[in-house]
Amino acid sequence: MDRGTVITLAYLLASVLFILGIKGLTHPRTAVRGNLLGALGMLIAIVATLIHWSIIEYHWIILGLVVGAVIGAVLALKVKMTAMPQMVALLNGFGGGASVLVAGAELTRTPPAPYSDALIATYASAVIGAVTFWGSLLAFAKLEEYRAFRQPIRYPLLQPINAVLGLLALALCVIGIGQPQYIGLYWGVVAIASVLGLTLVNPIGGADMPVVIALLNSYSGLAAAATGFVLGNAVLIISGSLVGASGIILTNIMCKAMNRSMTNVLFGVLQADEGAAKQDDVYRNVKGAAAEEIAMLFDTARRVVIVPGYGMAVAQAQHAVRDLYQLLESRGIEVLFGIHPVAGRMPGHMNVLLAEAEIPYDKLKELDEINSILSETDVAIVLGANDVVNPLAKTDPKSPIAGMPIIEVDKAKTVVVIKRSLSPGFANIPNPLFAADNTLMFFADGKRAVLDLIAAIKES
Ligand code: NDP
Repeated sequence: MDRGTVITLAYLLASVLFILGIKGLTHPRTAVRGNLLGALGMLIAIVATLIHWSIIEYHWIILGLVVGAVIGAVLALKVKMTAMPQMVALLNGFGGGASVLVAGAELTRTPPAPYSDALIATYASAVIGAVTFWGSLLAFAKLEEYRAFRQPIRYPLLQPINAVLGLLALALCVIGIGQPQYIGLYWGVVAIASVLGLTLVNPIGGADMPVVIALLNSYSGLAAAATGFVLGNAVLIISGSLVGASGIILTNIMCKAMNRSMTNVLFGVLQADEGAAKQDDVYRNVKGAAAEEIAMLFDTARRVVIVPGYGMAVAQAQHAVRDLYQLLESRGIEVLFGIHPVAGRMPGHMNVLLAEAEIPYDKLKELDEINSILSETDVAIVLGANDVVNPLAKTDPKSPIAGMPIIEVDKAKTVVVIKRSLSPGFANIPNPLFAADNTLMFFADGKRAVLDLIAAIKES
């Protein structure tokens, strides 16, 4: 078998493994195996690429592999679970940036013929890759909650400016595709698309962040697929298309979950800056409670719903939650979990944590199902969740989370909210739930609070 056939077969095998990997990732039970299959596919694809006959020297490649592997391994070991979304945003961005550089290098080395598929793909890499790189860096800064990026930068004519930038990039692409010798046009497109990446992501925040992360993920795949056409590399085209397509599907799921249309997320106008100023009014009637007081609620309770959020991930409280769940069930109380699609900081965040603590999947209920039974629930425990239970989403059309479906815990007989303070959640807005008549606030770290609650229930 000649080398070309070996490479083609290896690429085919890698592609099959990618598809099986994605299939595995659709369920928590098979997710670990799916991840391993995907990683194995990538290893096979890299090794097959390394034996390609057009590689003359290996020293730069080996240097790149070693440096990249060391940085990747250190990051993978050090990154906290709560910082995974930021990490994913960075990885999306680097994918886009790499596509821009590889396509640019190919254009400089051997410019394709005017109007050829390869030249069109080169300019597609420039636009999509640069938008992805800069958009992802800004998304990273927003997710890290850097002060300067928490609120969008406000300036007039936001959408017309985006339209002008988009048209300008398109015009330069059209000229460049007819004149491959003018390499400067390529970098001009990259510069304009870079600004566009920033201006497109700038106004997006709050409840729309999950949508934009999924979309940037998809863009990084499309940029890689375009670069695959530039290089004539089948496995890059296939893997890029898989990422692009799965990212679009995830974007769609996120839009539906947030009750948003894609155009509304991408081209919506900036809302007025609601913010901390109103908090004093909202929190006038907040009632605090201690573990002992809350424990008494479970003496007569028959159904308890636990709604976890980002704070459970920060506190790493999932194992303590499992103990609370087992204790309550041992006393004949039905315990269910209400999982909001954007709770936490990444799709499926809560499912992953609760699965890690071995809480049975059938106890996890999606938004509609849990909302239909909350009015027959004695105690709703909100653990480190804020935006996903904020009634302002329904009552205030100007709120950054307006229209987002929420878990309606206020329908339960009593609501216990566990968090450390009255600080806002990701959307940075006050939450009237904390001052509702049937709400008790238990101010503590999530894990500490659940452990104290377990001790108090055992004593009562
Ligand atoms: P929020 O970000 O709204 O609120 C989290 C709350 O957890 C905070 O109010 C904080 O309050 C509390 N908290 C933090 N640390 C602890 C701790 N150690 N112990 C107890 N509580 C703690 O979280 P939600 O899950 O309700 O909502 C998710 C938000 O993130 C939404 O706005 C969503 O749009 C956004 N988002 C979601 C993504 C996704 O894919 N899921 C991606 C990007 C953004 P305090 O400091 O007082 O303790």
